[in-house]
Amino acid sequence: MSEYNFIHEKRKGGKKPSHQQTNTNVSSNVSSDLNAEPMKFDFDEIHGMKLKEVVWEVPDQKVRKRRRSQFSNVRKEFLQEIGRTHEEQLRALGMTEKQIDMVKKGATPNGFNVHHKLPIHGGGLNEFSNFILMPIPPHDDLHHLVMDPQVANLQTGAKKRVLIPWSDDMVYVDPEHKQYRTNDENSTKKGSKKNQHTCAAMDPVFQAAFAARGSRN
Ligand SMILES: [Zn+2]
Repeated sequence: MSEYNFIHEKRKGGKKPSHQQTNTNVSSNVSSDLNAEPMKFDFDEIHGMKLKEVVWEVPDQKVRKRRRSQFSNVRKEFLQEIGRTHEEQLRALGMTEKQIDMVKKGATPNGFNVHHKLPIHGGGLNEFSNFILMPIPPHDDLHHLVMDPQVANLQTGAKKRVLIPWSDDMVYVDPEHKQYRTNDENSTKKGSKKNQHTCAAMDPVFQAAFAARGSRN
């Protein structure tokens, strides 16, 4: 019977140095070197958002899927809230009255996007404090120019220190129109970047919050 022959031969072939194989560490595939410095950038903010160091931790695929499917409901609530509380900021972003009405009803107007400041892929949650409503052209740069190059190859379970564009705002403020803010640092001339390195320092509160939540799921 050829079937038996096949199995037999296969066994023979597998009769290799089995001792050496026990040394193979399966978990070595997942990178979790938190001692490694984050990637360096030659800018410390992008489109008015500061680069902030966080621990990016890729949740299970199931968890990611669940959070993505829950997002549409939470996004709706977020937009309704923004519509109630941030009407002036929406107008300042250039939204028409019609678009503002859409936001009040919980819909995203064309050309805008609700962005996860810490993306779901990095362990981010569907929480208002992790959302910012912003126009698409600056939005995509956050991913393409800052986050993607740092996390493109990370697998489930991987942990890595990365820089993400951060703002405490829930509605994006165009850096050209920062009059809402305390008009100290924003009204100074463009290009005169202060030589501060606060972004490079780990923010333990932020990190702990995300790390704890991420691992709970
Ligand atoms: Zn985004």
